[in-house]
Amino acid sequence: MKFILTKELGRLSKWLRILGFDAAYFKQGNASSLIIEALRDGRIIITRNQRLPKSGGIQIVLIRQENLKGQLQELLNTLKISLERQAMFSRCIICNVELKDIDKKEVKLRVPAYVFETQEHFVICPKCNRIYWPGTHWGNVEKALERIGKNGIHS
Ligand SMILES: [Zn+2]
Repeated sequence: MKFILTKELGRLSKWLRILGFDAAYFKQGNASSLIIEALRDGRIIITRNQRLPKSGGIQIVLIRQENLKGQLQELLNTLKISLERQAMFSRCIICNVELKDIDKKEVKLRVPAYVFETQEHFVICPKCNRIYWPGTHWGNVEKALERIGKNGIHS
């Protein structure tokens, strides 16, 4: 299931990526270019814009909640999907591409010394070359998920 989120849902799009969803972010352009992009990639449009024209072959999810937790819950409920723990932390938060494993010895000069000392597993974004490791970039995610509630999460 792939998504495209309109510009007012930037935070939600980052969170969907953290949670492992393919979530494109439509920053600028008009409704027809949004629809073309959604059709081209087979994406569901996620928006708060109630005036978006309906278009054949396109699924639109209208988000009404104001806060992130509510928005995420609303999306999961509307599409009847739940979170898959093994999919989480598999995508670059910035680029929305899948991360690749990288050898620890290759990141030595590219991460802070204490991180290199204390972490064993690193992954890299093939597009922006950002390096991720558990506990730092994603440190508060687990906590936030606890707040969202474990009901929707399959471990
Ligand atoms: Zn990236």
